[in-house]
Amino acid sequence: MVRAELAGLLELEARLQTLGLEVRRDEPMARHTTWRVGGPADLFVTVQSMDDLVHAVELAWTYELPCFVLGGGSNILVGDKGIRGLVVHNRAGAVNIEVAGLRFPLEKVPADVSGAVLYLESGAALPSAARRLIALGWEGLTWAADIPGTIGGAVVQNAGAFGECLADRVIEVEWMELSGRLGAWSREECGFGYRTSRLRGRRDIVVLGLRMRVDRQKPAELRARHEELAALRRSRQPAGPSAGSVFRNPAGGYAGRLIEEAGLKGRRVGGAHVSERHANFIVNDAGATAQDILRLIELVRETVWKAHGVELELEIELVGEFA
Ligand SMILES: Cc1cc2nc3c(=O)[nH]c(=O)nc-3n(C[C@H](O)[C@H](O)[C@H](O)COP(=O)(O)OP(=O)(O)OC[C@H]3O[C@@H](n4cnc5c(N)ncnc54)[C@H](O)[C@@H]3O)c2cc1C
Repeated sequence: MVRAELAGLLELEARLQTLGLEVRRDEPMARHTTWRVGGPADLFVTVQSMDDLVHAVELAWTYELPCFVLGGGSNILVGDKGIRGLVVHNRAGAVNIEVAGLRFPLEKVPADVSGAVLYLESGAALPSAARRLIALGWEGLTWAADIPGTIGGAVVQNAGAFGECLADRVIEVEWMELSGRLGAWSREECGFGYRTSRLRGRRDIVVLGLRMRVDRQKPAELRARHEELAALRRSRQPAGPSAGSVFRNPAGGYAGRLIEEAGLKGRRVGGAHVSERHANFIVNDAGATAQDILRLIELVRETVWKAHGVELELEIELVGEFA
């Protein structure tokens, strides 16, 4: 690392500490990704509030240091050499309902309100937000109750499952950009597509919050729907550390099927293998490195290209430095 960068990091660390934030040096990213791989982040800070999220990111930008906002770490492969600059682990996760411009805690919404606007801070975890909504009789995120990410990651990726996706109910997404300007984009402005949005791959904009439509439905009906979807997931997806589907489905087909037909189920590189249960999942079952997973990804792409003439695109994102 050059001396100027090091000086910037030390100053940034000191400024973050003055905000009362606990800053860790060389934090292993393997502790914060669902694949359980990834080398050290130069600086790592966890934020629990919107103010701290904004301040931490703004500070890194002020020092012109790279800043990576981490949600649940469930859609990324972090390289074994880690991440330079600051990682902000976003746990700012308040969830409220807005009715006629007034904000209510979820549990306090008047019973006669049948449709409402849900406001979620970007660090809200999908499983806990979805389960609270189900228990209180609000339909909107039932499909996402077993997706292990945050709202921020789900917006960037337009997460989806079982024929639904986040974009379906989005009203607007609030953000902060590199200049420090705060703003909001309507659903149309977000440029949502299949597992993508105009926010994907950007390091100069941070999702702060999301407004989406929710509707009243009986908790028992929502619970039954969730149990049905959870059972489907259990029957189709492997247990063990993964990042969900590795590749996007190509137009008119399924990546998993192409991988299976290319004879790759069970194929192993080091501590990682292509799942026997769902060929679009790579599972770290034996202390894999990021390099093992990357090599397996390349092997799958090459083999599928040779077998089917289809170029698989990544659904997960590669982050940081690889060997
Ligand atoms: C077992 C399993 C099952 C899964 N099933 C599904 C599924 O059914 N459907 C589906 O779509 N996905 C699925 N996934 C993938 C993943 O959970 C989702 O894509 C999720 O939305 C990612 O969110 P995250 O918070 O973990 O993002 P991360 O992995 O933390 O980050 C992903 C990207 O989003 C960016 N990001 C995160 N938060 C912000 C923010 N506030 N502002 C700006 N950028 C941000 C990051 O910088 C990074 O570029 C699954 C994953 C696993 C492990």
